[in-house]
Amino acid sequence: MKYVPYTYKITFKETGEFYYGSKYGVDADPEYFWVKYFTSSKTIHKLIELHGKDSFKVEVLQTFKTSEEAQLSELKLIRDSIYKKLSLNGNIGGICINPNKGRIIKDVNGLTSYDKCQEKIYNTKHNIILDNGLTIQENATKKAKETALNNIDENGLNSYQQCGKRLKNDRNKINPKTNKRIYDEIAQKAKETALNNIDENGLNSYQRGAIKQQESALNNIDENGLNSNQRGGLNRMREKNGAYDTFYYNNGKINKRIKNGEAIPEGFIKGMLPEKTYPCKYCGKKMKKSNLSRWHNENCKLKGNL
Ligand SMILES: [Zn+2]
Repeated sequence: MKYVPYTYKITFKETGEFYYGSKYGVDADPEYFWVKYFTSSKTIHKLIELHGKDSFKVEVLQTFKTSEEAQLSELKLIRDSIYKKLSLNGNIGGICINPNKGRIIKDVNGLTSYDKCQEKIYNTKHNIILDNGLTIQENATKKAKETALNNIDENGLNSYQQCGKRLKNDRNKINPKTNKRIYDEIAQKAKETALNNIDENGLNSYQRGAIKQQESALNNIDENGLNSNQRGGLNRMREKNGAYDTFYYNNGKINKRIKNGEAIPEGFIKGMLPEKTYPCKYCGKKMKKSNLSRWHNENCKLKGNL
């Protein structure tokens, strides 16, 4: 076996990512590169494991007489390229520059080390039950909630309320006419927050607000024993209906509505005029005009018999 130190470049064909290295140990011989020797890079080994050794383009760049020369050349190659996006080199001469290069390689399931780590953390958070019966995640959420609720400012508002107030203030500063997009965005966010803020009864913020409002209306009783809802209903009825609290009077010729408590004109007595009746032209029965056209005259049962 010859001793020929060398530098090499390995390119992962799929992505164009590349790795520079050198071989300068006692068994250095470019003839065995990618035959017996497949670099010492863990990142490349991982890729070989996943994609096979044929998914690389391999090049011996230069050969040297001494190991120092090979190492120096390698240093220069890496130094000039390690900050490039496609570089798979993680360190220069043993000094770690980018420890995460190997971690972004996806395994057969398409997961990187990061993903797997995330999965591990997720499982830990959600599957381990603490003494209080809560998962780590639930316990953390509970603690954060308690902290937020106990963090009262000088206005007596807790963290949630402070945040809500800030948001509202921010929103009020925006003119919906000139800044419609931002205004709508904030409104949309507030809506989502309210809809997602579900309590132990399964109610969102809007529903809780509506119930609160309803309760306070029902409990707000006036001296007549009416609650807010009933007062509101009564007022609306009065506004809409001109006949509210009026009575019919007549003078023998016309009917007139007179409001309760108002003076009654001379000659008028309480009650309506007797309604005028008309005879059916087929059977002669007398009745109010509205019934006549509906059940008699042209609709009279006797019409055909005559
Ligand atoms: Zn008739």
